Amino acid sequence: MRRCSECVAAGNELVLFTKGRERSTDDECPICSRLLPLEDNKWMLQTCCMKTTCLGCAYQTRMSDDCPFCRAPNAVSYEEDFPTIKKRVDVGDPVAIHYLGDSYMKGINGFERDVPKAVELLERAAALGSKEAHLQLGVLFDRFSVDWGIDKDLARAVGHYEFAAKQGKALSRHNLGVIEHNTGSKGLALKHFMISAKLGDTDSLEKSRTCSKGG
Ligand SMILES: [Zn+2]
Ligand SMILES: [Zn+2]
Ligand SMILES: [Zn+2]
Repeated sequence: MRRCSECVAAGNELVLFTKGRERSTDDECPICSRLLPLEDNKWMLQTCCMKTTCLGCAYQTRMSDDCPFCRAPNAVSYEEDFPTIKKRVDVGDPVAIHYLGDSYMKGINGFERDVPKAVELLERAAALGSKEAHLQLGVLFDRFSVDWGIDKDLARAVGHYEFAAKQGKALSRHNLGVIEHNTGSKGLALKHFMISAKLGDTDSLEKSRTCSKGG
């Protein structure tokens, strides 16, 4: 059985399955307090204040072009946006550092793709507690490592997935289930899938059904 560092310290394997069974309060829209949808295209990051709002709240101020949270006028270009982001990165805001790392990783938001730079930023954000950065690093070392010129490192991936999963990150929990399933630990896989299904991941719901039928 795989044990995270916390489990080893606690002398058992249970920590990983007792933490992160609910989504955390920082997954709520700061305006309406509803949990943000898990799907990528159903929420919006406001780069002025680095708050993520639901689309409903985001569109409420669309007409006035202000941020629905801090009321700052929306930047009209990436160039105009950058000094604000840079300022937040410099003071160590994990959301801003993750945003910049993600932008370099994907080559979006006005940035050229630069994987080594992205990994450095994601690791900084992760060290500051960003569960999104942990998930992204997990995926990087688990799956896309060959394409991106990075050595696959499953132990490293699992460490990152476990951190985010213990904070209620559904996709991290799901990916731990996939790893357990692939290595033949069907029981542990099922435990992970049941938690991520409860967190709202529909793919996990399907997987937990197949798993419990012995698949
Ligand atoms: Zn553990
Ligand atoms: Zn909202
Ligand atoms: Zn704002």
